[in-house]
Amino acid sequence: MQIAEGTVVAMDYALKDDEGKLIDESQPGQPLAYLHGHKNIIPGLEAALEGKTVGDTVEVRVAPEDGYGAPNPALEQVVPRERFQGVESLEVGMQFQASTDQGPISVRVVKVEDEAVTVDGNHPLAGKHLNFNVTVQEVRAATEEEIAHGHIHQGGGCCGGGEGKDKGDCGC
Ligand code: ZN
Repeated sequence: MQIAEGTVVAMDYALKDDEGKLIDESQPGQPLAYLHGHKNIIPGLEAALEGKTVGDTVEVRVAPEDGYGAPNPALEQVVPRERFQGVESLEVGMQFQASTDQGPISVRVVKVEDEAVTVDGNHPLAGKHLNFNVTVQEVRAATEEEIAHGHIHQGGGCCGGGEGKDKGDCGC
């Protein structure tokens, strides 16, 4: 079976930046599964997998516009340190929830000064080229329910696997 809209794909993958540093990878025996054609994964990778089949290996360099987008400078903000009262040792890399006009977003601390803390609400991979090395492990037809929900059902139920990318917004 070839990968097309309405198939569920399981893949082993490794993701590196342009310097060759490993950013993320699937664990052995635990391929990442997703519903193809429903924007469950970034567009550049989804497009590269179209038409592939079990055993195929795909190497693709995804540009930021087909990945996590360009960083938005407006999402980087300097806030007074006193806003972090109760945080014992504030360090670069820590994550916090910040409330914005568009709802809560996750921000990372990128700079800590005496009086001010710089936080960045961009996706950590925004603006980066993404180098994927993918091996297709399984391709199956999605169930009608999966297509209706727009995500896979693992482990016998809706979001049952707990690994789904949509776990947080699974409203079923
Ligand atoms: Zn569901």
